[in-house]
Amino acid sequence: MPDGRSHGGRTAQTTRLAPSPTGALHLGNVRTFLVNWAMARRAGWRVVLRIEDLDGPRVKAGAAERTVETLRWLGMDWDEGPLVQSADLEPYREAMRVLARAGRVYPSEVTRGEIEASASAPQEGVGESVFPAALRPEVIPREFNERMRHEGTKARRHEGSEKRDEEGGTNWRMVVEAGAVEFVDGFRGPQALEPAKSVGDFVVWTKRGVPAYQLAVVVDDHRQGVTKVVRGDDLLDSAARQLLVYRALGYGPEPSYTHLPLVRGADGRRLAKRHGDTRVEHYRALGVRPERVVGLAAWWSGVGGPNARPTEVSAAEFAAGFGLDTMGRSDVVYRPEDDAWLRAR
Ligand code: GLU
Repeated sequence: MPDGRSHGGRTAQTTRLAPSPTGALHLGNVRTFLVNWAMARRAGWRVVLRIEDLDGPRVKAGAAERTVETLRWLGMDWDEGPLVQSADLEPYREAMRVLARAGRVYPSEVTRGEIEASASAPQEGVGESVFPAALRPEVIPREFNERMRHEGTKARRHEGSEKRDEEGGTNWRMVVEAGAVEFVDGFRGPQALEPAKSVGDFVVWTKRGVPAYQLAVVVDDHRQGVTKVVRGDDLLDSAARQLLVYRALGYGPEPSYTHLPLVRGADGRRLAKRHGDTRVEHYRALGVRPERVVGLAAWWSGVGGPNARPTEVSAAEFAAGFGLDTMGRSDVVYRPEDDAWLRAR
C-alpha cells in the first residue's frame, strides 16, 4: 500500500489497535478491540497496530507476541505494523525538543509528597496528586536534556523526604494552563475537560528515560496518521491531555475520539485478575473456539439484537452486525454465566 492514506483522491481514515503488553488480553480488552476493528472494517478505515511497551516495569516478556497472536486468532487483521514503541525513542525525543524550545515542558523532581503538601485542602472531585502550577520552576530551560537534574527546578530536599533520582533521570512535565479542553466524543458527545484541575502539569517524559504514555501516544498517533481513536472510557480524561500535547506540537488535524464503556466485574471494578481468569489465552487453552469468545463480545455489544443468550460469531460477522448506535450505553458486567457459556464449548 503506498502510504495508505488516500484512495482515489479521497482521504481515508486511519485507526489503531494499541495493546499494552503488560499482561495477556482479557475479555474486556477484546471487546474494545473488536468494536474498534469492526468500526474500521465497516467504514473502510485503515488499521494500524501499535505495541505500547514503554511502561517498563509492567511489561511482561513475550506478552507482545502473544497479544498479536491472540488478536489474529480472534480474526482481527491490520494494514500496517506492529510499530513497537520501544524500538526507537528518537521520535519521542524529537517531540520533547520541540516542546522544550516552545517552553512547554520542564524537568521536575518534585515528589508526590511535596505535591500533596502543597494542596491547600482536598477538594471534591479533585484527585490527590494534582500538580499545581506553584510547583513549576521559576526558569524553564528551553532545551530538552534527558539527564538534567536539579538546575532550574524549584525542588527542595527535605529531611526524610522520598528518595529521588533512584532511576537516574528526571521527570519532565507539561505546562498545563487553566481552561477547558473541548471536543466531541464519538460515543459520549460534547466534552469540556479541565486538565489543570484534574491533573495539573502532567509527566510527559519519565525519570526512567522513556516517554510517558501521554506523549508517546500523541507522537505515534501523529506519525501513524491516526484520525480515529477508539478505546475504553477509562482514557477519556487522557484525551484532554493528549489534545494539549497535540496542539503544543503543532500537529493537526486532531484525531476524533470515541470512548467506549468498559467491561466490569460484578463489584463494579474494571475487569482484572480479581474477577477470575478472563484471559483469552486461558479459554483458548481450554479448547474454546474463537467464535465463542467473539460471540460473547458481540452479545455484550448488541450485535444481532437484544438476544437472551450469546451465539457464536466470527470477527467478520461481528463487524457486519455491529453498530455504535445499537451498543449499550452502560458498562458491561461480566458474570459467572458468561464464563460458564464460554466453557460450554
Ligand atoms: N495501550 C492502552 C491500553 O492497552 C491503550 C492506549 C490508547 O488507546 O490510547 O489500554
